[in-house]
Amino acid sequence: MPSRRPLVGGNWKMNTTRTEAEMLAKAVIEGLGKELPEACDICLFPPFPWLSAVTDRVGSASVAVGGQDVSDHPDGAFTGQTSAAMLLDAGCRMALVGHSERRHGLGESDLVLNDKLKQAISSGLEAMLCVGETLAEREAGQSEEVVAKQVKQGLSGVPATDLGQISIAYEPVWAIGTGRTAAAEDAQAMHCRIRADLENQYDAPSAKGVRIVYGGSVKPSNADAIFAQPDVDGGLIGGASLDAEGFIEIIRAAASMSAS
Ligand code: PEP
Repeated sequence: MPSRRPLVGGNWKMNTTRTEAEMLAKAVIEGLGKELPEACDICLFPPFPWLSAVTDRVGSASVAVGGQDVSDHPDGAFTGQTSAAMLLDAGCRMALVGHSERRHGLGESDLVLNDKLKQAISSGLEAMLCVGETLAEREAGQSEEVVAKQVKQGLSGVPATDLGQISIAYEPVWAIGTGRTAAAEDAQAMHCRIRADLENQYDAPSAKGVRIVYGGSVKPSNADAIFAQPDVDGGLIGGASLDAEGFIEIIRAAASMSAS
Protein backbone atom coordinates (compact mmCIF):
# COMPACT_ATOMS: atom_id res chain seq x y z
CA MET A 1 0.00 0.00 0.00
CA PRO A 2 1.39 3.46 -0.78
CA SER A 3 1.96 6.01 1.97
CA ARG A 4 -1.73 6.35 2.81
CA ARG A 5 -2.44 5.19 6.35
CA PRO A 6 -5.05 2.42 6.45
CA LEU A 7 -8.48 3.29 7.80
CA VAL A 8 -11.04 0.83 9.14
CA GLY A 9 -14.54 1.86 10.19
CA GLY A 10 -17.06 -0.20 12.10
CA ASN A 11 -20.62 0.70 11.15
CA TRP A 12 -22.88 -0.71 13.84
CA LYS A 13 -26.00 0.49 12.00
CA MET A 14 -29.19 0.27 14.13
CA ASN A 15 -27.82 -2.45 16.38
CA THR A 16 -26.85 -2.70 20.05
CA THR A 17 -28.44 -1.63 23.30
CA ARG A 18 -26.56 0.99 25.27
CA THR A 19 -24.91 -1.70 27.39
CA GLU A 20 -23.98 -3.77 24.33
CA ALA A 21 -22.51 -0.69 22.66
CA GLU A 22 -20.38 0.10 25.71
CA MET A 23 -19.25 -3.52 25.97
CA LEU A 24 -18.42 -3.72 22.28
CA ALA A 25 -16.36 -0.51 22.40
CA LYS A 26 -14.57 -1.78 25.51
CA ALA A 27 -13.85 -5.14 23.88
CA VAL A 28 -12.43 -3.44 20.77
CA ILE A 29 -10.21 -1.08 22.79
CA GLU A 30 -8.96 -3.80 25.12
CA GLY A 31 -8.48 -6.30 22.32
CA LEU A 32 -6.47 -3.83 20.27
CA GLY A 33 -3.98 -3.14 23.01
CA LYS A 34 -1.48 -0.41 22.40
CA GLU A 35 0.19 -1.25 19.12
CA LEU A 36 -2.44 -1.33 16.41
CA PRO A 37 -3.75 2.23 16.49
CA GLU A 38 -0.22 3.27 15.51
CA ALA A 39 -0.53 1.39 12.23
CA CYS A 40 -4.15 2.01 11.31
CA ASP A 41 -6.85 4.62 11.84
CA ILE A 42 -9.97 3.14 13.40
CA CYS A 43 -13.41 4.68 13.73
CA LEU A 44 -16.49 3.24 15.43
CA PHE A 45 -19.89 4.37 14.15
CA PRO A 46 -22.44 3.53 16.85
CA PRO A 47 -26.13 4.53 16.77
CA PHE A 48 -26.65 8.22 17.67
CA PRO A 49 -28.09 7.69 21.17
CA TRP A 50 -24.95 5.81 22.25
CA LEU A 51 -22.37 8.24 20.85
CA SER A 52 -21.48 9.86 24.16
CA ALA A 53 -21.43 6.52 25.98
CA VAL A 54 -19.05 5.13 23.36
CA THR A 55 -16.81 8.21 23.24
CA ASP A 56 -16.59 7.98 27.06
CA ARG A 57 -15.53 4.33 26.75
CA VAL A 58 -13.03 5.05 24.00
CA GLY A 59 -11.51 7.85 26.03
CA SER A 60 -8.05 8.10 24.49
CA ALA A 61 -7.50 9.58 21.06
CA SER A 62 -6.37 6.35 19.37
CA VAL A 63 -9.80 5.12 18.27
CA ALA A 64 -12.21 7.66 16.80
CA VAL A 65 -15.98 7.69 17.00
CA GLY A 66 -18.24 8.92 14.23
CA GLY A 67 -21.86 9.56 13.34
CA GLN A 68 -23.60 7.28 10.83
CA ASP A 69 -25.06 10.40 9.25
CA VAL A 70 -24.91 14.18 9.62
CA SER A 71 -27.44 16.89 8.82
CA ASP A 72 -27.10 19.09 5.76
CA HIS A 73 -28.06 22.05 7.97
CA PRO A 74 -26.14 23.68 10.81
CA ASP A 75 -29.13 23.94 13.19
CA GLY A 76 -32.82 24.79 13.32
CA ALA A 77 -36.17 23.19 12.64
CA PHE A 78 -35.01 19.83 11.28
CA THR A 79 -36.75 17.26 13.43
CA GLY A 80 -34.83 14.04 13.87
CA GLN A 81 -31.59 15.32 12.36
CA THR A 82 -28.20 15.62 14.04
CA SER A 83 -25.86 18.48 13.19
CA ALA A 84 -22.11 18.34 12.72
CA ALA A 85 -21.70 20.57 15.78
CA MET A 86 -23.71 18.09 17.86
CA LEU A 87 -21.53 15.22 16.67
CA LEU A 88 -18.42 17.16 17.63
CA ASP A 89 -19.96 17.99 21.00
CA ALA A 90 -20.60 14.28 21.58
CA GLY A 91 -16.90 13.60 20.97
CA CYS A 92 -17.10 12.48 17.34
CA ARG A 93 -14.34 13.03 14.83
CA MET A 94 -16.00 11.60 11.74
CA ALA A 95 -19.31 11.20 9.96
CA LEU A 96 -20.52 8.83 7.27
CA VAL A 97 -22.16 10.58 4.34
CA GLY A 98 -24.33 8.76 1.83
CA HIS A 99 -24.31 5.25 3.21
CA SER A 100 -26.38 3.19 0.75
CA GLU A 101 -29.00 2.52 3.41
CA ARG A 102 -29.64 6.28 3.37
CA ARG A 103 -28.88 6.95 -0.29
CA HIS A 104 -31.08 4.15 -1.60
CA GLY A 105 -33.16 3.26 1.46
CA LEU A 106 -34.16 6.85 2.26
CA GLY A 107 -33.66 8.44 -1.15
CA GLU A 108 -30.93 10.93 -0.24
CA SER A 109 -29.75 12.68 -3.39
CA ASP A 110 -26.23 13.59 -4.46
CA LEU A 111 -27.18 17.23 -3.89
CA VAL A 112 -28.20 16.65 -0.26
CA LEU A 113 -25.17 14.45 0.33
CA ASN A 114 -22.89 17.16 -1.02
CA ASP A 115 -24.43 19.59 1.49
CA LYS A 116 -23.99 17.04 4.29
CA LEU A 117 -20.36 16.53 3.39
CA LYS A 118 -19.74 20.28 3.33
CA GLN A 119 -21.46 20.72 6.69
CA ALA A 120 -19.26 18.00 8.17
CA ILE A 121 -15.95 19.30 6.90
CA SER A 122 -16.64 22.98 7.48
CA SER A 123 -17.41 22.11 11.10
CA GLY A 124 -14.13 20.24 11.48
CA LEU A 125 -15.32 16.65 11.15
CA GLU A 126 -13.80 14.15 8.77
CA ALA A 127 -16.32 12.80 6.30
CA MET A 128 -16.41 9.37 4.70
CA LEU A 129 -18.37 9.65 1.45
CA CYS A 130 -19.98 6.31 0.59
CA VAL A 131 -20.54 5.47 -3.06
CA GLY A 132 -21.53 2.34 -4.94
CA GLU A 133 -23.71 0.92 -7.66
CA THR A 134 -26.85 -1.20 -7.24
CA LEU A 135 -27.12 -4.69 -8.69
CA ALA A 136 -29.34 -3.42 -11.53
CA GLU A 137 -26.79 -0.73 -12.39
CA ARG A 138 -24.00 -3.29 -12.30
CA GLU A 139 -25.90 -5.68 -14.55
CA ALA A 140 -26.58 -2.84 -16.96
CA GLY A 141 -22.83 -2.19 -17.17
CA GLN A 142 -23.20 1.23 -15.52
CA SER A 143 -21.10 0.73 -12.37
CA GLU A 144 -18.23 3.05 -13.29
CA GLU A 145 -20.44 5.82 -14.59
CA VAL A 146 -22.72 5.68 -11.52
CA VAL A 147 -19.84 5.75 -9.04
CA ALA A 148 -18.03 8.51 -10.96
CA LYS A 149 -21.16 10.68 -10.77
CA GLN A 150 -21.61 10.03 -7.03
CA VAL A 151 -17.99 11.00 -6.37
CA LYS A 152 -18.09 14.08 -8.61
CA GLN A 153 -21.35 15.42 -7.23
CA GLY A 154 -20.57 14.42 -3.65
CA LEU A 155 -17.38 16.47 -3.78
CA SER A 156 -18.77 19.32 -5.85
CA GLY A 157 -17.41 22.66 -4.62
CA VAL A 158 -14.98 21.01 -2.18
CA PRO A 159 -11.50 22.49 -2.65
CA ALA A 160 -8.38 20.31 -2.83
CA THR A 161 -7.25 21.82 0.45
CA ASP A 162 -10.17 20.10 2.23
CA LEU A 163 -9.48 16.62 0.81
CA GLY A 164 -7.41 15.72 3.88
CA GLN A 165 -10.69 15.60 5.81
CA ILE A 166 -12.32 13.26 3.31
CA SER A 167 -12.18 9.56 2.63
CA ILE A 168 -14.29 7.57 0.18
CA ALA A 169 -15.92 4.21 0.84
CA TYR A 170 -16.64 2.19 -2.29
CA GLU A 171 -19.51 -0.04 -1.28
CA PRO A 172 -21.27 -1.91 -4.07
CA VAL A 173 -24.87 -1.98 -2.83
CA TRP A 174 -25.32 -5.62 -3.84
CA ALA A 175 -22.47 -6.58 -1.49
CA ILE A 176 -23.68 -4.78 1.64
CA GLY A 177 -25.01 -7.16 4.25
CA THR A 178 -25.54 -9.88 1.65
CA GLY A 179 -22.47 -12.04 2.22
CA ARG A 180 -21.46 -11.35 -1.40
CA THR A 181 -18.17 -9.52 -1.80
CA ALA A 182 -16.67 -7.90 -4.86
CA ALA A 183 -13.70 -9.86 -6.16
CA ALA A 184 -10.53 -8.22 -4.88
CA GLU A 185 -9.49 -7.37 -8.45
CA ASP A 186 -12.89 -5.78 -9.19
CA ALA A 187 -12.62 -3.69 -6.02
CA GLN A 188 -9.13 -2.62 -7.07
CA ALA A 189 -10.33 -1.69 -10.56
CA MET A 190 -13.09 0.53 -9.16
CA HIS A 191 -10.81 2.13 -6.56
CA CYS A 192 -8.27 2.84 -9.29
CA ARG A 193 -11.01 4.41 -11.43
CA ILE A 194 -12.17 6.57 -8.50
CA ARG A 195 -8.60 7.74 -7.97
CA ALA A 196 -8.28 8.58 -11.66
CA ASP A 197 -11.51 10.57 -11.47
CA LEU A 198 -10.19 12.42 -8.41
CA GLU A 199 -7.07 13.24 -10.38
CA ASN A 200 -9.22 14.74 -13.14
CA GLN A 201 -11.36 16.66 -10.67
CA TYR A 202 -8.33 17.85 -8.64
CA ASP A 203 -4.72 16.89 -9.36
CA ALA A 204 -2.47 13.85 -9.04
CA PRO A 205 -0.94 14.54 -5.59
CA SER A 206 -4.39 15.28 -4.13
CA ALA A 207 -5.86 12.12 -5.65
CA LYS A 208 -2.98 10.06 -4.34
CA GLY A 209 -3.55 11.25 -0.80
CA VAL A 210 -7.27 10.36 -0.53
CA ARG A 211 -8.03 7.13 1.27
CA ILE A 212 -10.48 4.91 -0.57
CA VAL A 213 -11.78 2.06 1.56
CA TYR A 214 -13.89 -0.90 0.48
CA GLY A 215 -17.15 -1.98 2.11
CA GLY A 216 -19.45 -4.91 1.44
CA SER A 217 -19.42 -8.12 3.48
CA VAL A 218 -15.78 -7.79 4.52
CA LYS A 219 -14.94 -10.41 7.13
CA PRO A 220 -11.76 -11.83 8.63
CA SER A 221 -11.62 -14.53 5.94
CA ASN A 222 -11.59 -12.15 2.96
CA ALA A 223 -9.97 -9.02 4.43
CA ASP A 224 -6.38 -9.92 3.53
CA ALA A 225 -7.13 -10.38 -0.18
CA ILE A 226 -9.13 -7.17 -0.43
CA PHE A 227 -6.71 -5.01 1.56
CA ALA A 228 -3.75 -6.35 -0.45
CA GLN A 229 -4.95 -4.33 -3.45
CA PRO A 230 -2.82 -1.22 -3.98
CA ASP A 231 -5.72 1.25 -4.13
CA VAL A 232 -7.71 -0.26 -1.26
CA ASP A 233 -6.81 1.66 1.87
CA GLY A 234 -8.89 -0.19 4.42
CA GLY A 235 -12.55 -1.00 4.90
CA LEU A 236 -15.95 0.08 6.12
CA ILE A 237 -17.26 -2.92 8.01
CA GLY A 238 -20.90 -3.49 8.89
CA GLY A 239 -22.00 -6.88 10.23
CA ALA A 240 -18.51 -8.10 11.09
CA SER A 241 -17.83 -5.02 13.23
CA LEU A 242 -20.41 -6.21 15.77
CA ASP A 243 -18.06 -8.95 16.83
CA ALA A 244 -15.01 -7.42 18.54
CA GLU A 245 -12.70 -10.34 17.83
CA GLY A 246 -13.54 -10.51 14.13
CA PHE A 247 -13.36 -6.72 13.79
CA ILE A 248 -9.91 -6.71 15.39
CA GLU A 249 -8.76 -9.40 12.95
CA ILE A 250 -9.91 -7.18 10.10
CA ILE A 251 -8.03 -4.22 11.61
CA ARG A 252 -4.94 -6.41 11.90
CA ALA A 253 -5.25 -7.29 8.21
CA ALA A 254 -5.40 -3.60 7.26
CA ALA A 255 -2.58 -2.64 9.62
CA SER A 256 -0.33 -5.38 8.25
CA MET A 257 -0.74 -3.96 4.74
CA SER A 258 0.76 -0.66 5.83
CA ALA A 259 3.72 -2.57 7.21
CA SER A 260 4.31 -4.64 4.04
C1 PEP B 1 -21.72 -1.25 5.71
O1 PEP B 1 -22.60 -1.15 6.55
O2 PEP B 1 -21.17 -0.23 5.27
C2 PEP B 1 -21.33 -2.57 5.24
C3 PEP B 1 -20.38 -2.67 4.35
O3 PEP B 1 -22.01 -3.65 5.77
P1 PEP B 1 -21.58 -5.19 5.67
O4 PEP B 1 -20.11 -5.26 6.05
O5 PEP B 1 -22.45 -5.89 6.66
O6 PEP B 1 -21.80 -5.63 4.28
